Amino acid sequence: MTSPMPARIGDPLSRVQTPALIVDLDALDANIGAMAAHVRGTGQVLRPHAKTHKSVEVARRQLAAGAVGLCCQKVSEGEALLPSGVRDLLISNHVVGAGKAQRLCALAREVRTTTLCSDTRHARVLSDAARSAGVQLEILIEIDAGDARMGLPDGDTTGLLQIAQMVQDAPGLRLRGLQVYNGPFQHIRSHEERTSAAVLAANRAKAASQLLQDAGLSCEVISGGGTGSFTADVEAGVLTELQPGSYVFMDADYGRNLDASGAQVSAFRQSLFVQTTVIRTASAGVVYLDAGVKSLNLDSGMPLVKGRPDLGFTKASDEQGRIEASPAGPAPELGEVLMLVPSHCDPTVNQHDWIVAVRNEEVEAVWPVDGRGCLL
Ligand code: PLP
Ligand code: MN
Repeated sequence: MTSPMPARIGDPLSRVQTPALIVDLDALDANIGAMAAHVRGTGQVLRPHAKTHKSVEVARRQLAAGAVGLCCQKVSEGEALLPSGVRDLLISNHVVGAGKAQRLCALAREVRTTTLCSDTRHARVLSDAARSAGVQLEILIEIDAGDARMGLPDGDTTGLLQIAQMVQDAPGLRLRGLQVYNGPFQHIRSHEERTSAAVLAANRAKAASQLLQDAGLSCEVISGGGTGSFTADVEAGVLTELQPGSYVFMDADYGRNLDASGAQVSAFRQSLFVQTTVIRTASAGVVYLDAGVKSLNLDSGMPLVKGRPDLGFTKASDEQGRIEASPAGPAPELGEVLMLVPSHCDPTVNQHDWIVAVRNEEVEAVWPVDGRGCLL
C-alpha cells in the first residue's frame, strides 16, 4: 500500500504535508539539460542511471533530452520504468540466479536489454535462460575500475579473453563490450585525484578493449562513469557511453566535491529536498523535526538545512530529527517548515512513495516513485 499523497497540484509549497520528498523542477530541468549539453557533440552518448530517481517522469525528461536509454540496477526497476517509453536498458549489475535470469529475459522481450557478466559460470546461466526464452541478451563484461569490487581484476587477460570468447559463442548472448564503474572514486573531493581515478579506469578499459579487438572479439561499447567523474570521462574520451545518476538531484555528499579551482562543483544544482516540520521546541536552541531515518538515508552523514547554515542536524531517531541552532541565530519555531538537503540522494528517494514536483514555490505535479522498493 502506498501512503497518501502529501500534496495536491496548485498547493503552495508551505502547505505540503511533511515529511515529503520535494523536487525543484527548475533545478531538475537545468541539471538534465546541463549533462545532456556536456555530452552532446563529444561522440559519446548518455545513458543516465535511473537508480537515483526510479521515476517514469524523470526518465521521460532524460530521454527527451537525448539519452540513448537508461541504466537500472535491478530487473524490477527496469520493469517499473517501461512506461517512460525507454527502448534500451542496461541492467548495470550482475543478475544471478535462474529465477531472476528468467525475468531478465522477459524484459528482453520488451526492450533491448544489456547486462553485466564477469564469470563464465554466470554466463552459462544467462545463456541457458536466453536460449529457452528465445531472446537475446547483450553482455558487457565488467572490469575492475580500481575498487576491486565487481569486475575482472586488471591484468587478468586470460580470464577476460576466456569469458569474452565464451559470451561471443554462447547461444542467446551477444558480446557488446565492457563496463567500468567505480563508485567510491566518484566522491573523492579533490578534482585532481578524482580525475586521476577516472583516468586510471579509462586506461584499464582502453587496454581491455584493445585486447578484445586484437583477438577478433567485439567491443563496440565501453560504458561507465558517474556524476563525480563526468568532466574527466568526457576529456579522457575512452568511454563510449556515460551513466551518471545523481546529477539529476545531487546531495550534500556530492556537494563536498571540489572543482579544479578548489570551489564546490557548480555544474549541477541541488534539486532534491526533504521538507520537514518542527514538531517540538525542547530546550534553548534545540528543536525536533518530523523527519528521521525513515525519511532520510544517513549512510553519507547528516543532511544540511537549506539556507540555514546556522542550524545543525545532529541526530536522528526513526521518525524524528534533532536540530541544534547556533547561539548566533534564532531557533526555528514550532510548526516552522524547513528544507533538508539529503546526504545521499538515491537511497533517500527509495524511502518515499511520492515526489512532490514544485516550481516557483507551487506544486506542479505529484509523481510516484515508480521503482520504489524494486530490489529484485
Ligand atoms: N553506474 C553504476 C553501475 C552505479 O552503480 C552508479 C551509482 O552507484 C552510477 C552509474 C551512477 O553514479 P552517480 O550516482 O555517482 O552518478
Ligand atoms: Mn549513490
